[in-house]
Amino acid sequence: MKRLKIEREEAWKWLHPKLAEHWGRSHFKQHYKCEILLNNLCEAFNASILKARGKPILGMLEAIRTNLMVRMENMRVAAWKWKRSVSPRIEKIVEKNKLEAGYCNPILSGDIKYEVTNMHGGQYVVDLGTKSCFCGRWQLCGIPCPHAICCIFRRKQDPYDYVHDYYKKDAYLKCYNPIISPMPSMDQVDNIWSSPFATSCV
Ligand SMILES: [Zn+2]
Repeated sequence: MKRLKIEREEAWKWLHPKLAEHWGRSHFKQHYKCEILLNNLCEAFNASILKARGKPILGMLEAIRTNLMVRMENMRVAAWKWKRSVSPRIEKIVEKNKLEAGYCNPILSGDIKYEVTNMHGGQYVVDLGTKSCFCGRWQLCGIPCPHAICCIFRRKQDPYDYVHDYYKKDAYLKCYNPIISPMPSMDQVDNIWSSPFATSCV
């Protein structure tokens, strides 16, 4: 903050009253396993309902319901096509970290703790038991950092086994498993009780 004040006082004034845990990764809570600084969920959702927002309220709600119904199913289908136990986005990060792990050298200090030296500078402490590294990335996002991966490789194990369960297919499917039931139109309401789908519609 001292350096920021020298560099750009306006930015310092804006940030100063805000809690560091709202904008600084070093202060993020680690149990969420998410290092994303900006929450784009609202923007992404709003973009997906742009057309619906122009409709009268019932039409809008109906369009949003259909949109979500289709999306939930698409996500379920996509998850079943994953080649690994984690999503393609997480796979990409792990593969990138695996390449970076080639620049790291682990030294076993005992049991499952390592001292890791990076060829580009820096020395880190990795504990495979607590799934933590002194760089903080593993605890923060739940994906092994390059320092951790070089230790995992040394033990001839698979880095994907060390990715947090939040990113696994089981967790993903749990989120998208609830099915939004199809709905009949209003003119079909009288027939609903005699329909074989009555229970699921209700
Ligand atoms: Zn690390």
